[in-house]
Amino acid sequence: RFITFEGPEGAGKSTQIALLAERLRSAGEAVTMTREPGGTPGGEALRDVLLNPAATWSPLAEALLMNAARDAHMQTLILPALQRGETVLCDRFAASTLAYQGDGVAPETLAALEAAVVVRRPDLVLLLDLPVAEGLARAKARSTADRFEGRRLDYHEGVRARFLELAAKDPNMHCIDAAQPQDDVSAAILEVMRAHYPD
Ligand code: C5P
Repeated sequence: RFITFEGPEGAGKSTQIALLAERLRSAGEAVTMTREPGGTPGGEALRDVLLNPAATWSPLAEALLMNAARDAHMQTLILPALQRGETVLCDRFAASTLAYQGDGVAPETLAALEAAVVVRRPDLVLLLDLPVAEGLARAKARSTADRFEGRRLDYHEGVRARFLELAAKDPNMHCIDAAQPQDDVSAAILEVMRAHYPD
């Protein structure tokens, strides 16, 4: 199975991915944990390029770089892991591009890039949603600010709105309240997992 985690800065994605990976592994499942932008040596190099505070990229250039990294990720890491029968847990994927680069790039352009690159869609997308101010405060507290986190509040509000819009349209995308305590977030994720993968 292919499960992706989406959401704004400070939503707790990496913590929740690690908790879910541990849980699945202790139940005997083989799990590959990965992230975007990144996941492959080339993708991690592009991540550094994208997050470099000294760099300036147009939204279209960002979308192209994100998709270049995603193509390598898909072909060399995600598809092979799925073919080996592993569960792939990915921190950010295509919905992040629609939400973030959707500020400035036309939806049809993003959809065309996605259609070329995403040859296997996730079967479950977990959106960890929380109010923008709360997420930014959490992200600031861990002091790893990158060039995206410094953007205007209304940019982040737009990102959140696009994520919620995607979740409302996609039956495989589930919105989870990430403002709750960590244990409640992981309980909510397990509940969605049980409903999505009944066995
Ligand atoms: O969630 P993570 O810290 O890995 O994301 C790194 C940064 O890249 C975040 O600030 C996020 O806003 C940004 N990003 C983006 N567009 C994407 C994916 C990530 O702007 N498609």
